Order: sequence, then structure tokens, then C-alpha cells
Amino acid sequence: MKFRVGDKVKVKENLECNATYDRTLFVCDMQRFKGKILTVRKVGDGYYKLDGANWSFSEPMLEMPERDATLCCPFCGNQVEVKKYLTPNGNHWQVICEDCTVAMTASTKEQVIDKWNRRT
Ligand SMILES: [Zn+2]
Repeated sequence: MKFRVGDKVKVKENLECNATYDRTLFVCDMQRFKGKILTVRKVGDGYYKLDGANWSFSEPMLEMPERDATLCCPFCGNQVEVKKYLTPNGNHWQVICEDCTVAMTASTKEQVIDKWNRRT
């Protein structure tokens, strides 16, 4: 198994409702997790349980979350990541410094980086 308990994984966005991935059915109710980043709660025999989801996910349904860029936090100097999220309104990009609890979001990666840099 590729992922371990505590890993952050992303549910792939191109999964089809009622299709079987590596002997695990992707039921229609699981569609709301597409594009979401969740934490692995349990690694079973050929399946994963994720935090906040009651269904079993198989490895082909999951991928490593994108890590697209790193920026420097203007307040504490920590490295912060620019991440893509899928929301009901579409994709958006977010930069968060967890230490300073500062977060910025925008609809494109360039915009969020620009917003973040203009804060300094
Ligand atoms: Zn910071």
C-alpha cells in the first residue's frame, strides 16, 4: 500500500460514479469527495479509510496532493505552500501559514501568489 495512516491524500477528480477501481466500487455518494484532500485514518487489506468519509477508497482513487509552489510567510518567515482546492464553485488556490493563521485564496495560482506578495 502506497499511503500510510496520517498521510494527506487527494481523491482524484476524474472518478466515475458506480465504476470499480481495483475491486472497490466508487458509489455516487462518494462523488462529493472528488478533489478533496483527506487524511488516511486506516489502511486495510486493499483499501483505505479516510477521515470524514465512511466509504472505503482503493489506491487508484487516490493521489498525492499537488504541491505547486512554496512562498515565504511575510510575518514569521516560514515556508508556506500554495495549494489547489476544489470547491462547489470550482477550483481555487490557497496559501496558508498555520503558525500565523493567515490564509489567502484566489481563483488562480498567479492571483493568490500576487495577493500574498502584496501583503508584505
Ligand atoms: Zn507565518
